[in-house]
Amino acid sequence: MEALRVLDETWGEISDLAAASALLGWDQETGMPRQGVEARGSALGTLAGLIHERLAGRRLGDSLAELEDRAADIGPDRRAMVREARRDHDRATRIPADLVKRLAEEEARAMAAWQEARAESRFERFLPHLTTLLDLKIQVADALGWESERYDALLDEYERGATAGAVGQLFLGLRAELLPLVRAIAERGSAVDLGPVLRPVPAERQLEFGRTVARAMGFDFGGGRIDRSAHPFCTKIHAGDVRLTWRAAEADVRPALFGIIHEAGHGLYEQGLPPHFGRTPLGEAASLGIHESQSRLWENMVARSRPFWSNFLPELKRQLPGSFDDVDVEAMYRAVNHVAPSLIRVEADEFTYNLHVILRFEIERDLLQGRLAVRDLPQAWNARMQEFLGVVPDRDAQGVLQDIHWSMGAFGYFPTYTLGNLYAAQLMQAARADLGDLDDQIARGELGNLREWLREKVHAHGRQHLPAELIAAATGRKPAPDAFLAYARSKARDVYGV
Ligand code: ZN
Repeated sequence: MEALRVLDETWGEISDLAAASALLGWDQETGMPRQGVEARGSALGTLAGLIHERLAGRRLGDSLAELEDRAADIGPDRRAMVREARRDHDRATRIPADLVKRLAEEEARAMAAWQEARAESRFERFLPHLTTLLDLKIQVADALGWESERYDALLDEYERGATAGAVGQLFLGLRAELLPLVRAIAERGSAVDLGPVLRPVPAERQLEFGRTVARAMGFDFGGGRIDRSAHPFCTKIHAGDVRLTWRAAEADVRPALFGIIHEAGHGLYEQGLPPHFGRTPLGEAASLGIHESQSRLWENMVARSRPFWSNFLPELKRQLPGSFDDVDVEAMYRAVNHVAPSLIRVEADEFTYNLHVILRFEIERDLLQGRLAVRDLPQAWNARMQEFLGVVPDRDAQGVLQDIHWSMGAFGYFPTYTLGNLYAAQLMQAARADLGDLDDQIARGELGNLREWLREKVHAHGRQHLPAELIAAATGRKPAPDAFLAYARSKARDVYGV
């Protein structure tokens, strides 16, 4: 069928252009000299334009229309490909070209203004740009279309099928229990000794240990690599080439170790996507939230567990003779589970992190609904910090100006982090029920059964299902906060006695 050939060919080209773009982006963060910034920006812009041309093109649109007419003739996998290609095609065509252009220009200006504003801790410097950007994103949302509220149109780009209403319900349930739990932990403040993790270890040795854990998780270094960058990330160039990055702190082993495990969790997902969906609309992750569930499950639910350390602490001691002699499994387990309210999201622990996210979600939703004016943002931010975490920044640089996301126009992105945590807990609970003595396996360093379970339940499906459907099929229940709350309660009891 000619229309199928057009779909395959177009998606093959889109995948190749995306691979080139991903490689340029990876290089920009890991090796490019500083003076390359401008030319790299224009190369990436050209590639983005070529991708958009194919995605929004009449040729693809006509083929999709024909395939939709003949849906009965093409089989379920093909129908799913057509459905996902249609989503991407519609998103690409609904936003007028001049709006896309104005947005790209304003994003570049806003990001520069944000950097200055943050350096000077002066919100007024960012205010006019954020106001313009928000107005443009409102136009984007309205062009895309939405039913109950504008936020849905933006959220859908990162978490297909999710709505602000449904996410708001999940977060409300989470917030109601997490707030008092975090407060109770904060009152017991100094109950955890950070000594076991706050010690100088040469960066290369930290990397070596991180690689040991990543290999045990099943990350295939024959189809991937790891390099240094300022902010850790994982990017797939194409099948067989998945790249992780890491960074080390001088006297704290946590950023390197948990960063590598986190990115390796993302990497396993990319390596586990079904090869037969490669270069098709289904050969991608289901959503950012599902992606984050894979990294968080390994980082927090596995690597912050007692059985994990009963296997890996001896290994750490073998690799670094003398450095951890005074540390036992219990002390390590407690240290890596330190919880305390703090100002900065990216440094937050696995409990309070979610409160940072809910705060941003509520503020974004208010901005898009017109319930909050941009100039009142710092005030709204600080009020919620007080309410959620009991700490308030004395400078906007440590508060409302801390994240890069809004300067990139990425409204609707933040919720995916906490959705990832909720999905992760729900998946882990289901894996535990299916795999029997999972803790014993982890304590023996056997992580293969868990990985294969995730492969089968999550990775192997690519982008066939909506995130909420994927979680329901894997765990038998719709996404809900209870699994995470049960996990958080039991850890809080265990570590802090609350
Ligand atoms: Zn992540």
